[in-house]
Amino acid sequence: MRLIVLGSGTNMHPKRAAAGYWIETDKHLLFDFGPRTLQNLVRLGLDRHRLEHLFFSHYHADHFSDFITFFFDAVIHATYVAPRPPLHIYGPKGTKRLFEAMFHEFPTFSPAPFKTSVTELTDQTIQLGKTRVTAGTVVHSRKLACQGYRVEYGGRTCVYSGDAEYSRGLVTLCGHADLAVLDCSFPLEHPGKGHMTAQDCGRVAHEAGVKRLLLSHFYPVAEQYDVKRQAAEKFDGRVTMAKDRMRIDLRSAGATRPSQEDLRFR
Ligand SMILES: [Zn+2]
Ligand SMILES: [Zn+2]
Repeated sequence: MRLIVLGSGTNMHPKRAAAGYWIETDKHLLFDFGPRTLQNLVRLGLDRHRLEHLFFSHYHADHFSDFITFFFDAVIHATYVAPRPPLHIYGPKGTKRLFEAMFHEFPTFSPAPFKTSVTELTDQTIQLGKTRVTAGTVVHSRKLACQGYRVEYGGRTCVYSGDAEYSRGLVTLCGHADLAVLDCSFPLEHPGKGHMTAQDCGRVAHEAGVKRLLLSHFYPVAEQYDVKRQAAEKFDGRVTMAKDRMRIDLRSAGATRPSQEDLRFR
């Protein structure tokens, strides 16, 4: 399993793209599609025309807005250049209504020259080939349905919190994961509602017994403090700060070679 960070910042971060994570198993999966993540995807040479499974944690624009550019491009490319496989979209309650309206209202979006499907997921597991994806409710905004995701493949597990406060549900979703990518919007000194501080991230990682914690989704203020140390106060395992275009390989269970990690693409 391979994770590539397309965006480790928030909506208007001056240096980081907003939320977006590419995960390769026997499938190509994308989790959230925030502003500037499409640019990173293109810069890395990842083939957006092979992307078949797109998951949304919720619909704040910092997790969503590049979908519009992506989909417009996909329609043009499939019409004039080459066909593409079907696109399957998954997200929390409200996903169907949002995409139906968008497909109806945005020029050129409909009819698309490829199949699309939209599936709402709440606390359930789906199987895609050899990959299992579990959606789990997280606490972020009272007005929005929000899901985090747990991806299992080849004996390895990677969890993405989406935007989330500390909750027992998030701890359960992260249970014994090899890698947990958690919403570290804020440092301990400047907590914000609906998100975690670095110390909250450490607490979740510790209580869930994860092997490695990847802090991500930074507001600029988070980088004015030592958030890695703050997380490590609660969690004994390895803590890493996410960077845009960072790659982490999780070798399948039983593989003899050690994991190849943090090889950032240039
Ligand atoms: Zn949000
Ligand atoms: Zn966010």
